[in-house]
Amino acid sequence: MIELLPPPSIVPLDHILPDEPLLMMGAGPVPIPQKVAAANSIVINHLGETMSRVIEQVKDMGRYVFQTESSHVMAVSGPGSAAMEMAVANLVTPGSRVLCITNGYFSQRMAEMVRRVRGEPTILEAHHNEGADVALVERALQQGQFDVVTLVQGETSNTVCNKNLNQIAKLAKRYGCLVIVDAVCTLSTMPLAMDSWQVDAIITGGQKGLSSIPGVSLLAFSESAWAKKIAPRKELPFHWCLDAQLADKFWNQKSYHYTAPVSGILALHEALRLVCEETLPQRFERHLRCSEALQAGIETMGLQLLIEKQHRLNSVVGIVVPDHVSADVVRAHMSKVHKVEISGAFGLNILRIGQMGEQSRAYNLFRTLHALGSSMRAAGAELDLPAGMAEMERVLSGEG
Ligand SMILES: *Cc1c(COP(=O)(O)O)cnc(C)c1O
Repeated sequence: MIELLPPPSIVPLDHILPDEPLLMMGAGPVPIPQKVAAANSIVINHLGETMSRVIEQVKDMGRYVFQTESSHVMAVSGPGSAAMEMAVANLVTPGSRVLCITNGYFSQRMAEMVRRVRGEPTILEAHHNEGADVALVERALQQGQFDVVTLVQGETSNTVCNKNLNQIAKLAKRYGCLVIVDAVCTLSTMPLAMDSWQVDAIITGGQKGLSSIPGVSLLAFSESAWAKKIAPRKELPFHWCLDAQLADKFWNQKSYHYTAPVSGILALHEALRLVCEETLPQRFERHLRCSEALQAGIETMGLQLLIEKQHRLNSVVGIVVPDHVSADVVRAHMSKVHKVEISGAFGLNILRIGQMGEQSRAYNLFRTLHALGSSMRAAGAELDLPAGMAEMERVLSGEG
């Protein structure tokens, strides 16, 4: 008998998890519908007839949310960043010249991934707290011979939106570039049309706009990017798991790449089905109305939003923390007293409230705005909480 190490002493999960689940109103993960949670508890064979039917529907629904007719829609095991890395690893090859338009943390991550596959990123940083300027992008495209352009639709980190995404993508196309768009927090919350905007790769995560689970992410490659860059490639990409040609075996040829995250794909199926049932126009409208109501409530209460309206992302709302108030104290109070969780930020003195998927429901908004105002007051801020609540109600009811 070999000597084995003793088992560690472990407490059951229900001793770790709060008795009452927190309402997840931060920058993701977001609450998931019961149908998504139920699907996520099922394991089926990753190959075979049942899975095939699921896959076909996930692709069809993926085409709808991306607004593309491309046959290259696929999911990947991993976070939104894995989808990002898959897009980069298959469209950027050593020596590729890439214009990386950055507004913050996540768009910079794409530049870092370009570097790691030995591409040559040129960073074009947007003006502080603003969306990218089309004229500046055009100047950069004129000056360099770029193969690829990367940008984010909604920069979750500082809540800036690239509202000129459509023009920038078309412009990049005119200069012969492939365009990679990060739509992790925005997909299905605001308009994005892959084919008509001429985007070559769109990536998203499960846990934000789609209101699915984290860990299974969806992406699409355009037909032309596939034909130009992926199908004729001579060198194998660096990453085996992220190889789009290998992934295509599973997603389009009913064969094996790696064991697909079946439960997560079933969850994604349900999340996408709920998007299709709601329809995109209605979903965009719901997100817009809820986010604008929340923003109006926050401002009327006496707090400031970080980003000017012209550049502001609606999917995640960034709130300036007043002087002499601690963001950590506010968040802790919200979680402990109101069972509502929101996010801090990466190095910025803001709080962030998500408006993605299930977060954009009136019943969640009232609880969240009340929790925010009440916790801000407890942390020393002077606010008119009732005025904020009344304003949000007014906007939500369409009187705004
Ligand atoms: C959350 C997010 C990511 C990263 O997603 P992970 O699932 O954490 O890897 C990338 N881009 C944007 C815009 C995001 O909001």
